[in-house]
Amino acid sequence: MIKPNMNYGRLKESYLFFRIAQKTKEYLKNNPEKKLLRLGIGDVSLPLCDAVIKALHKAVDDQSSKETFHGYMPECGAPFLRETISCYYKNRGVNIDSEEVFVSSGASDELGDILDLFDRSSSALVIEPSYPAYVDANIMAGREIIHLNSDQKNGFLPLPDKSLKADLIYICSPNNPTGAVYNKKQLKQWVDFANGNGAIILFDAAYEAFIEDDELPHSIFEIEGARTCAIEICSLSKTAGFTGTRLGYTVISKDLKRNGMSLNSMWVRNRTTKTNGVSYIIQRGAEAVFGDEGQTQIKQNIQFYKDNAKILTETLDEMNIWYTGGKNAPYIWMKCPDKYSSWEFFDLLLNNAQIVATPGEGFGKCGEGYIRFSTFGSREDTLKASEKLKELLHSIQ
Ligand code: PLP
Repeated sequence: MIKPNMNYGRLKESYLFFRIAQKTKEYLKNNPEKKLLRLGIGDVSLPLCDAVIKALHKAVDDQSSKETFHGYMPECGAPFLRETISCYYKNRGVNIDSEEVFVSSGASDELGDILDLFDRSSSALVIEPSYPAYVDANIMAGREIIHLNSDQKNGFLPLPDKSLKADLIYICSPNNPTGAVYNKKQLKQWVDFANGNGAIILFDAAYEAFIEDDELPHSIFEIEGARTCAIEICSLSKTAGFTGTRLGYTVISKDLKRNGMSLNSMWVRNRTTKTNGVSYIIQRGAEAVFGDEGQTQIKQNIQFYKDNAKILTETLDEMNIWYTGGKNAPYIWMKCPDKYSSWEFFDLLLNNAQIVATPGEGFGKCGEGYIRFSTFGSREDTLKASEKLKELLHSIQ
C-alpha cells in the first residue's frame, strides 16, 4: 500500500480563521440585527486600477487573433515582465538582471515550491509571530523548525546571535502580522549571519510597497552581501490588488551558490519541469502595474489603506496603547489591555464593539496578548471601528 506523506499528521489544525469564522457566525445568529466591522481580513477591498484593467482587456484582445495570440508562456516568466521588474529594482538603485527574476502565480505558491531547492535535513528558522504558511510548508516537507520568538522589547524585530543555528531563515519585512520593518543596519546583521553560516534567507517582501520611510529597505538586495545569501519573494496581491488575479515574482541572484550548485540554475530547472508559465493576459496586467500610470494609481489605493491605518493608530495613540505597524505596513499589532488574552480580547471586541480582528496567538505562542487589525477594510467600517474601540477601551480602563 502506498504510504502518504506522514508529515501531514504533524500539522496543527489550521484553526485560527476557522475559529474566527465560527465565532462571528455564532454572534450573528444570536444578534441578527447587528452589523460586523471586519478588521480581520487579509484580503484587499479596492478593485484593480484602471491601467491594469486596460492592459488586461488589451491582452484578451491579443488572444483573439492569430498574429498576436500567445500560447504557452516561458516557464520563468515573459521577457517583457522580467525586464520590467528588473527596471523596477534598478530605479531603486538595485542591480537585478532580468534572468534573476522569476514570474510566479503568487508568493504563497513560491514559499512552498522553493523548498524543493533544499535538502530535507536543512533546518528552517521562523521568526514568530509569523505568517502561518512558513511553519506549515516546512512541516509538510519534514523539516526541523527553529522558532525564534520576538517581543515588545525588541520591537518584534529580533536579531541573530552566535547561538543561533539554521539553514533557512524566514524574514518578512514589513511583517505580517506585526507590521514591524527591519532597517538596513538590522538586515545587514542577518545577511552577515547567513553568509557567515552558509545559510539562506528567504525574504518575504509582499508588503514592500507600503514602506513610506525613505531610509527603510524595500528589498534585501539593498543590503551589501545579500546576493550570496538571499532569495526574495514578492507579490502584487497587496501592492496592486492582485489577490484574485494572482501574480508574484521571486529573485534569485546568479551569485547564490551552495555546494558548487547555482540556485538560480536549479530554479530554472525546477520551473521548466514543474510549470508551464503564468498566463499571458495576467503578465500583461502585471506589466501595467510598473508603468507610470499604474504606479500613480496603485499608490492612490495604498494611500487609501494608509488613511485607514491612520484613523486606527490615532485612536490607539490617544488611548496610550502600545502597538507596532500601521505606518510602513497595512497591519497594526496592538497590545491587548492587561489581563486579556488574545482570544478574550477578540471576544470582547466582537461582543461589545462588533469588531472582528485577528488574535495574535494564532501567529505563534509569543503572539499571545496581542491582536492584529488589518487596514484593508472599508473606510466606513474603519471609522466606526475606531469610535467603538475608543468607547470600549474607555469602559475597561
Ligand atoms: N506572504 C505574506 C507575508 C502574506 O501576508 C501573504 C498573504 O497574505 C502572502 C505571502 C501570500 O501572497 P500571495 O497572495 O501572493 O500568495
